[in-house]
Amino acid sequence: MDNLIQFAYVVSAALFILGLKKLGSPATARRGNMISAIGMLVAVVAALLDQGIVEYQWIVAGILVGGAVGVAAARLVKMTSMPEMVALFNGFGGMASLLVGWAALSGGASTFTLVTIVLSILIGGMTFTGSLIAYGKLSETIGSGAVLFPGQQVVNSLIVAGIVGSAVMFCIEPSNHLWLYIVVALSLWFGIMAVIPIGGADMPVVISLLNSYSGLAACAAGFAVNNNILIVAGSLVGASGIILTQIMCKAMNRSLSNVLFSGFGSGKVETAKVEGEIKPISAEDAFYVLEAASSVAIVPGYGMAVAQAQHVVKELMEELEKNGAEVNFGIHPVAGRMPGHMNVLLAEADVPYDQLLEMDDINPRMETIDVCIVIGANDVVNPAAREVESSPIYGMPVINVDKARTVFVLKRSMASGFAGIENPLFYKDNTRMLFGDAKESISGLVREFGD
Ligand code: NDP
Repeated sequence: MDNLIQFAYVVSAALFILGLKKLGSPATARRGNMISAIGMLVAVVAALLDQGIVEYQWIVAGILVGGAVGVAAARLVKMTSMPEMVALFNGFGGMASLLVGWAALSGGASTFTLVTIVLSILIGGMTFTGSLIAYGKLSETIGSGAVLFPGQQVVNSLIVAGIVGSAVMFCIEPSNHLWLYIVVALSLWFGIMAVIPIGGADMPVVISLLNSYSGLAACAAGFAVNNNILIVAGSLVGASGIILTQIMCKAMNRSLSNVLFSGFGSGKVETAKVEGEIKPISAEDAFYVLEAASSVAIVPGYGMAVAQAQHVVKELMEELEKNGAEVNFGIHPVAGRMPGHMNVLLAEADVPYDQLLEMDDINPRMETIDVCIVIGANDVVNPAAREVESSPIYGMPVINVDKARTVFVLKRSMASGFAGIENPLFYKDNTRMLFGDAKESISGLVREFGD
C-alpha cells in the first residue's frame, strides 16, 4: 500500500507540472486546469489513505460536497467577480495550512518541525486575513481606498517583532502554548495591516502575491506533517504566484515595493488638463467608416467584461471579415481586472486564438490599421503613459491605439478608468467617441451591417 501511495504522489506531481505547462497558452489552458485538478484529486485521496484515518465513504462524501461547492461557484460567480473568488480561495487555503500546522503539534515535535509549524501558522494566518481584506476591497464591501495613518510603519514593525519574539519563545518552550496563540493572533492582525494600506486598484497584484504566500504556507505545512506532495504542490503555487506577481508589476511598469508601500490610489490624482475637443459619433456614422476599412484592430478592456459584450464583439468581427476586412485583437497584459481576463472572455465567445495579438505584436502594426475599436478600455490605451511625464502611469507600456488612422472609443461616459486619471486619447483629432453600453453600441454596429 505504501508503495502505491508514493507512486500516486509522483503521478500527481507530474500532473501538476503538466497542467501548469498547459496553462501557459489560451488554447490549452482549460485542459491544463482539468489535468491539475485531477492531479489534486489523486493527491488528496492518496494523502487521506496515507494517514490511514479516513474511511473510503468519507472520501467519497468529501468529493461530492467539495464538487458541489465547486460547481455552484463556477456557475454562479460572474466573470467580473473572478478576482474576488480567487481572493477567498487563497484565504481559505491559508487558513487550511494554519489548521494543518496547528494539528501537527499533537505528538512530540522536533525543533525543525516546530519551526515549520510556526511558519505554516504565521504565513497561513496572514494570508487568510489579508485575502479577506483584499476580497472586501475588490467587492467594495469595505472602502477600496488605501488606509494610511501616522505611525503605521512603527505599528507594523512592532507586530513583526512580536511575531518573531513569540515564535522563537515557542520553539524554545513548546509546552507553553500561549506563545503559539500569540503568534496566531499577531499573524491574523498582520495580514490586515499589510493589506489595508494598498489601494483597490492594486488588489489583483496583492491577490497574486497572497496566492504565492498560500503556497508557501502549504509547503511549510507539508514539512510539518511530513507529506511530500503538499511540499511539492505548495512550492509550485508559491513559485507560480510570485512569477505572476512579477509579470503584473512589469506590465504596469511598477516595482513590487511600489505596489505594496506607496499607497497608490489613496487620493484623487491631479493631472494636467487635456487640450482638445470631444467628438462623439453615432453607430450609423461609425458603420460607414468601418464599412470602408480593410484592416481593423479591436482593443478590449474592463468595460467589455462589465457589458458582457464578448459575444456581440465576435459577431462584429464576423461582419467585418465578411466585408473583406482583416480583423485582429490587441490584448494588453493587464487589461481588465485579472491576468488573462480578456483572453478568457474572448475564448468563451470562440474568437480564434491566432487573432489575439499581444501588445508587443500589435503595436508595430498600429500605423497600418484603418480603424481601431477600443471597447471599454481606458488606462491600457492611455497615451499619457508615453507623453505626459507627470502622469502616475508614465512609463507603463500601453497599446498605441492613437497611432491608428481612426480610433473609435466605446464607453458610457467620460469617466476615468481604474487609475483614476484623464485620458488624452479621447481628445485626439483621429478619435471618435461612441457613447453607450459596449454591448448595445456593438449590437447597433452589427445591426447596421445586417441592414
Ligand atoms: P479601465 O479600468 O482603465 O477602464 C475601463 C473603462 O470601461 C472605464 O473607463 C469605463 O468607462 C468603461 N466601461 C465600464 N463599463 C462599461 C460598459 N458597460 N460599457 C462600455 N464601457 C464601460 O480598464 P482597462 O482594461 O483599460 O485597464 C485595466 C486597469 O486595471 C489598469 O489600470 C490596470 O493597471 C488595472 N489592473 C489590472 C490588473 C489585471 O491583472 N488585469 C491587475 C491590477 C490592476 P465608463 O464608465 O465611462 O463606461
